[in-house]
Amino acid sequence: MTTSDASPAARTSNINVRRGEPLVVIEHVDKHFGDLHVLRDINTVVNRGEVVVVIGPSGSGKSTLCRAVNRLETIDSGTIAIDGVPLPEEGRALAKLRADVGMVFQSFNLFAHKTVLENVTLGPMRVRGVKKKDAVKKATELLDRVGVADQAAKMPSQLSGGQQQRVAIARSLAMNPKLILLDEPTSALDPEMINEVLDVMVGLAQEGMTMIVVTHEMGFARKAADRVLFMADGAIVEEAAPEQFFTNPQSERAKDFLSKIL
Ligand code: ADP
Ligand code: MG
Repeated sequence: MTTSDASPAARTSNINVRRGEPLVVIEHVDKHFGDLHVLRDINTVVNRGEVVVVIGPSGSGKSTLCRAVNRLETIDSGTIAIDGVPLPEEGRALAKLRADVGMVFQSFNLFAHKTVLENVTLGPMRVRGVKKKDAVKKATELLDRVGVADQAAKMPSQLSGGQQQRVAIARSLAMNPKLILLDEPTSALDPEMINEVLDVMVGLAQEGMTMIVVTHEMGFARKAADRVLFMADGAIVEEAAPEQFFTNPQSERAKDFLSKIL
């Protein structure tokens, strides 16, 4: 599998940070919203167990790319395959894909009218056909793991933002996903709650969960990422190991971006 054909010259080699088998293969993906070209010839491979951090200016297409991987957005051309299977169009196959690819958004989108525990048991019971007793057992373990076991009976609105986001991560994990997409999971949090969510994410990374994370939390990227994708204007402009990217960005766009956020 090669991603080099259409790479901009500025893109740096990522051979050294690749490990495991390809899990997500994105080839020549283009996407427009009307006249706006939001994804431009996107090519990349995410291997099993890899943590990829996507950074870039607002409006550069990061969320659209994440959403395309979960098929919350369609693409105009190119292919996205997960575990060797192109993204399904609809129906049961699409439901299965969404179960296999967890997604955590910036806004804690828990089911407001369900308890914390129910938020975590619902998917496995409905989509995976897990029995209630087993779903509750697993959900309880997961809530414990993200540090909110004592909140299980509460409604989401009774929890802090950081707690809600940790429940959202537990809810994703309950589906036994092959991959988790996290789109700015800490951006809407009060500062004192950011680390409690990042700590959970670092733990997942260390356990080998494959993750694509849109974040401007450079500490997380340095600690947990195998690779940074830098996007601008809908294109991947640079792709490199975090240390290399942060200390020696190749493109003017990346240098400019880093000078503003670091
Ligand atoms: P990022 O996550 O990097 O901030 P997005 O992927 O959200 O960027 O958006 C990329 C571009 O596409 C932006 O210019 C945004 O305004 C536009 N966009 C995103 N979603 C839609 C939509 N549903 N309809 C029209 N334009 C959109
Ligand atoms: Mg976004």
